[in-house]
Amino acid sequence: MTDDAAAPICLARPLPGPDDIRAGCAAARGVNGRPLHAAALKFFWGPMDCGKSTMALQMNYNHARQGRRGLVTTRIDRSLGPQVTTRIGLAHSAIEVTDGLDLRDLVRDAWAEGVRVDYLICDEASFYDLEHIEQMAELVDNYDVDVYAFGLATDFRSCLFPAARRLFELADSVARIQVEVLCWCGREGLLNARVVGGRVVREGEQVVIGDTVDTAQVRYQVLCRRHYRAGDLGGR
Ligand SMILES: [Zn+2]
Repeated sequence: MTDDAAAPICLARPLPGPDDIRAGCAAARGVNGRPLHAAALKFFWGPMDCGKSTMALQMNYNHARQGRRGLVTTRIDRSLGPQVTTRIGLAHSAIEVTDGLDLRDLVRDAWAEGVRVDYLICDEASFYDLEHIEQMAELVDNYDVDVYAFGLATDFRSCLFPAARRLFELADSVARIQVEVLCWCGREGLLNARVVGGRVVREGEQVVIGDTVDTAQVRYQVLCRRHYRAGDLGGR
C-alpha cells in the first residue's frame, strides 16, 4: 500500500485540524513510513431480534481468525450471566459491564498481564453508562484499540437510549444492521414495543428485563412504526 493510498485513513478521523492530521499521520507511521493501524469506534444498531449479538460474535470470530485479540463485553444479556447469547443459539463468555467498570482499566489491566487487546466488542451497548461511551472513544483515540459497539437505538417509548445517542454523536461510523425483522403485518420492524398483560405500554422504567417469547410477563415485540403508534399487536 502506498502512502497516498493510506492518507485518507488519517483524514477520516472526525474533525481534525491540520496540525492534528500531521501529528496523527506522523504518529501512525512505522519505521518505513508505512501507516500503522488506525483504530475506529463503530456502532451497529437495530431493533430487537435483528441479529446484533450474532453479528458481534461473528465479528469477534473474524478478527480472531486473523490473529487479532479482543475482549467481549456485555450488559444485561438476556441470559443474565456474563456471556453474550444469541437467539440462534450461539454463546460466548463476556465481561459484564458494571456501573463502576472503567473500560480503559479493563484494557490496561489486560496489557499489564501480558494479554493482547486489539479491539473491544461491546454488546448491548445501549445499556452502558455515558461514561463508558467516552471511555470507548478514548480507547480508540489514545490507545489505538478498535471498539465495535452493538445495541438498540431506541427504547420502548421510541426514544433514543442515552448511550446510543452518545454513540451516534461520537462514533466514526454507524450502521443499521441489515437483517430485517418483520412486524406481524409484513412491514419492516423498526420499534421495540413493551407488552405487559397483552397491551403496549408507553410509560415506565427505561430498562426492564423481558423477552420476546409470548409467555413472558413483560415481553417485547418489534413492530413497524404504524402499528407501534397504533399499539396494534396483531393476532399474536
Ligand atoms: Zn406493522
